[in-house]
Amino acid sequence: MLQYGVFLNTYILTVTFVIGLVMGSFINCVAWRIAHGEDFIHGRSHCAVCGHTLTPIELIPVLSYLLQKGKSRCCKEKISLRYPITELLTAIVFLGIVLKFDVSLDSLKYMVFALILLAVALVDLDTALIPNGFILSGIINFILFTCLIEENIFSNLIDGVISGFAISVPILLLSVVMDRVLKKESMGGGDIKLYFMVGLYFSIKSNLFLVLLSCMIGIIFTVVFQNIRVGDEENPMAFPFGPSIALAAMVSVFVAEPLIDLYLGLF
Ligand SMILES: [Zn+2]
Repeated sequence: MLQYGVFLNTYILTVTFVIGLVMGSFINCVAWRIAHGEDFIHGRSHCAVCGHTLTPIELIPVLSYLLQKGKSRCCKEKISLRYPITELLTAIVFLGIVLKFDVSLDSLKYMVFALILLAVALVDLDTALIPNGFILSGIINFILFTCLIEENIFSNLIDGVISGFAISVPILLLSVVMDRVLKKESMGGGDIKLYFMVGLYFSIKSNLFLVLLSCMIGIIFTVVFQNIRVGDEENPMAFPFGPSIALAAMVSVFVAEPLIDLYLGLF
């Protein structure tokens, strides 16, 4: 918890919130470009409908959306609510991270983790695919911050890898059995790789919680969004599972350990 006095606390939280908005906006842009096969490093942001290059005033997170009343200035096309919502969500998650981990390398580690999860969720929603680049980014982020933060680097890296396999291997085996029984693909390879990547960040107990939570969220999403079709032609009605895993991983950062302690305290 932050303990720098009212003034500094407010300052830190305000800056964190604004950075969250900007990074949320950035990830929206990256996810859109990847989902639409565009170069995401070069090129200016443009209107998704008419191609007009966006001016700085049209690029302010959330505010632009409110000022333009949810319509683009160039062609008056409706802007998806998804942009301001994900920008706000990122800002709120960033606040939560700083409140939990203080001004620290841990905070930075989980902020990058959150951004990767957001990108995974957005691209999976649009394309029903999880690019390997995101999985790799998550693995590199884990290795990098383990080297920066932990004193016993090697044993922490090994623990992470064991956790990652402990979550992904049983799910891989289960999905192979399910594929045989259902005679169709039950879970994509991207989902299993995503389980491995997020598994690196948690203890085995927390991973158990994460798997249960992701399945519950998956069921809820499938029911709530059953009318939304995605790009997967073989299985057009299936709602992608990546967003459920991403959300469960984000929630686990905050509640997995305390909930497990609470549960074990009952016995
Ligand atoms: Zn336009």
